[in-house]
Amino acid sequence: MRKPTRDYMKIVNAYLNMNMPFQVSIIGFVQYYDTIYPILKLENCIKGRKFDITMQTGVHGDEAIGVRVVMNFLKDFKTKWLNYYNFTIFPCVNPYGYSFNVRKNGNKQIISRFEFWNNKNIDVPELQILGKHYPERPDIFIDVHGDTGKSKWYMYERRPINKESIAKLSLKENKKIAPFIQNATIYREICEDGVIVNPEHDKSIDDGMEFLGVPYVMVLEIPIKMDARLQIEGGVKILNSILKNHLKIMLESKFNLFKKKEEKVNG
Ligand SMILES: [Zn+2]
Repeated sequence: MRKPTRDYMKIVNAYLNMNMPFQVSIIGFVQYYDTIYPILKLENCIKGRKFDITMQTGVHGDEAIGVRVVMNFLKDFKTKWLNYYNFTIFPCVNPYGYSFNVRKNGNKQIISRFEFWNNKNIDVPELQILGKHYPERPDIFIDVHGDTGKSKWYMYERRPINKESIAKLSLKENKKIAPFIQNATIYREICEDGVIVNPEHDKSIDDGMEFLGVPYVMVLEIPIKMDARLQIEGGVKILNSILKNHLKIMLESKFNLFKKKEEKVNG
């Protein structure tokens, strides 16, 4: 059998030993050939904040940059977010793919399928585990990917059409360090200001999260054809921007609602 390209246990150990305000747990194991891979979940130690956010990465094992970006986001974690968010983070959902630098799992299955809620059809071991641990309806779901063919950033965003785009705001404010694809057709879909808005229903996990009523579902595509240091720096910045802009939009809409009520009372 060929040797793995990367040491997944390094990731596991790094998380188990990292100093951060998250509880790390092993939520299950997958086994391919003679190797057993634990799957990790991170959650806030203290719960009960305003918004729930679910983040995952490593769906496609050949896009290891996502795993590195999320790890750096957590290494340099801004504790102010704990005042507003409950995090559930799956830092590497396809350990076999990560280890061998292949897109699929050890059964040659795609992890990004939405059958996880349709229990009858779960035959993907990673999804059997994740399906039990995905929060029911987070306020945001973020999936961090990479695109080997791109040198500029872009995102997919599923959201109610009357809501402001968090993805566009977040890319725009980081464009110096993370230039994005302005206007183009990416895999048959139209990308405007770096964002493919409400992409087609492709039965991915992201599509499924939208189906389940998650108001903001985002896929960040890290351009792998650019300087590796900038991939990480840009990725961490964009993730922080997403949180900031989401919070801003949520607090503003609450404030407007409050103002409207007040106007009604006064008028
Ligand atoms: Zn991907």
